[in-house]
Amino acid sequence: MAFGYNGRILRIDLSTKEIIVEEQDEYFYRIYGGGACLGAYYLLKEMSPGTDPLSPDNIIVFAGSVVNGVPVPGFARSAIVFKSPLTGAIADSQAAGYFGPELKFAGFDAIVIKGKSKKPVYLWIHDGEIEIKNASHIWGKTTGKAQDAIRKELGDERIIVAGIGQAGENLVRYGCVVNNLKHVYGRLGGGAVMGSKNLKAIGVRGHKKIDMKDKETVLSIAKHFSSNFMKESPTDSGLNYLGTAKDVISLNEDGQLPTRNFKTGYFQGAENITGQKMKDTVLIKGGACYACPVRCKRVVRVDEPYKVDPAYGGPEYETLAMLGSDCGVDDLVVICKANELCNKYGLDTISTGASIAFAMECYERGIITKEDTTEIELQFGNANAMIEMIEMISKREGIGDILAEGVKRAAEKFGRGAEKFALHVKGEEIPAHDARVKGHVALGYTLSSIGADHIRAAHDGAFTSGWIPYFSKRVEPLGIIEPLETSSIDHKKVRRFMYFQNVFSMYDTLNLCLFAFPPAFYFTLRELVDLVRAITGWETSLWELLKLGERRVDMFRAFNVREGFTREDDWLPERMFEGILTGPRKGQKVDKNKLKDAINFYYEMRGWSKDGVPTRGKLAELNLFWVAKELKKYGKYQK
Ligand code: SF4
Repeated sequence: MAFGYNGRILRIDLSTKEIIVEEQDEYFYRIYGGGACLGAYYLLKEMSPGTDPLSPDNIIVFAGSVVNGVPVPGFARSAIVFKSPLTGAIADSQAAGYFGPELKFAGFDAIVIKGKSKKPVYLWIHDGEIEIKNASHIWGKTTGKAQDAIRKELGDERIIVAGIGQAGENLVRYGCVVNNLKHVYGRLGGGAVMGSKNLKAIGVRGHKKIDMKDKETVLSIAKHFSSNFMKESPTDSGLNYLGTAKDVISLNEDGQLPTRNFKTGYFQGAENITGQKMKDTVLIKGGACYACPVRCKRVVRVDEPYKVDPAYGGPEYETLAMLGSDCGVDDLVVICKANELCNKYGLDTISTGASIAFAMECYERGIITKEDTTEIELQFGNANAMIEMIEMISKREGIGDILAEGVKRAAEKFGRGAEKFALHVKGEEIPAHDARVKGHVALGYTLSSIGADHIRAAHDGAFTSGWIPYFSKRVEPLGIIEPLETSSIDHKKVRRFMYFQNVFSMYDTLNLCLFAFPPAFYFTLRELVDLVRAITGWETSLWELLKLGERRVDMFRAFNVREGFTREDDWLPERMFEGILTGPRKGQKVDKNKLKDAINFYYEMRGWSKDGVPTRGKLAELNLFWVAKELKKYGKYQK
């Protein structure tokens, strides 16, 4: 008997309407775990290199894991995995909320979707059953209207809906997938992939209980977290109080709040967009995910001058920075409206903010003019222009049609030196953390297979803040004990980054919320291992779980290598090599030679070739013999 997982994976071909339930054995689950790793398995096995991400042959996997959905804080996540229309690389995007657990309750661990329906459809998955239903009447609707219609039609207000808005339908390359209107699989264009398949939404509902080998232990560890995190964890209690928005003020004071397309890290208007300001003005409550008492999500309501519907939640740190300081906007109400619009239309707030900030800099420098913007004055700080841009991007109107392609393609279209101001890695827009300030962030942006992502490893600040003893204790089992300077990218930092990349990759494979786990949050690694053992009944260890993370890193890399990505793609945008213009971090930058050296060293530590290709030996060590064969088939190993 399986514990923790169902052993059933749903396979759907939207072109043929064929539905298959695939049964996988314990060996499969133990090697791939779930989430990002499980998704990568299907993409590598079943998609040919060179597949157009917006063609029917792209595969999108909604993946739970062997442990997600049990009633433990931080176990609410699930992943979507696909080939990104933004980057052409493999992509995974995580969301918490309720969709992942509900899929498990409905009897499935994952949904693997390929093909393209002739007409718009949505999927209805309930208690082991699956139906493909007509969605013509909700095509063109916002995520909220579509969710309401699906629930009404199926007669159940508790159906969990993950769907797309107009942005995904219009193939905006960073269109996202939104579950319950406020939990977002944000990055890299999963919404556009659904749009390209004429798939509007997936509704799930289930009543199955997840079997656990040792339920008593699981519930006792969960109870310990719930009873103590407010007293004992400075970070989780801070999240409960202000959400991730708590970071706005500290990052600004430290000179690393992205401001005006990352020209500087100090924003004069930061006081107006803080977590405290939100709490004092528009916040109505903290939002929760399944079984999690941290309640770090924000729910805001505004009536004037804009109406902001609380159903769409409220802005998190990334949104406040990318649609706030990075666009020079210090009006909290406007940012709340922008957040609502992004969740309604299904737009990634990070890439949306980055694209608008990029366009604002191009406008400021005369690369684009009022002729391009249909008379909109696209200056930094113009809050109304930002709102207009969101509307235009989601509908692909005017200049919005160009910005909907992401900054890399938009810069190619604008020409006249615009490339210099397009801040991306592998085509993915840089999120709200400055690589010039934090070494792990610089390495994470550079070396991650998916592009510029800020949650590929713990951020360096955790080890230089006033909470060093708290954080250090939590990572002691990894043998990471030496304090290192925040911005360094030397060999010791590369080692620490690589360890954390494996840890965070393990989280993405088991679908764990990093806001509940080490180094910064309340659970310990020992408790994590105890939980996985008690849920699955496996005689597992931290070593085996970290191998899950490492396996995901190498599978993602192998996918990209097969697609033709090379070490040239592992690089930062030019602005990261130029000094920050003003503020406490003025002049700070990444050193190109040091970064080149760090990349070489990282490849060596990973067991990759000088070109960044995972070696046969390394893949064998990770029990990925078949991936090595795949790379050989495509000529990636020369004699
Ligand atoms: S810590 Fe926050 S994001 Fe993570 S599961 Fe809990 S409420 Fe959700």
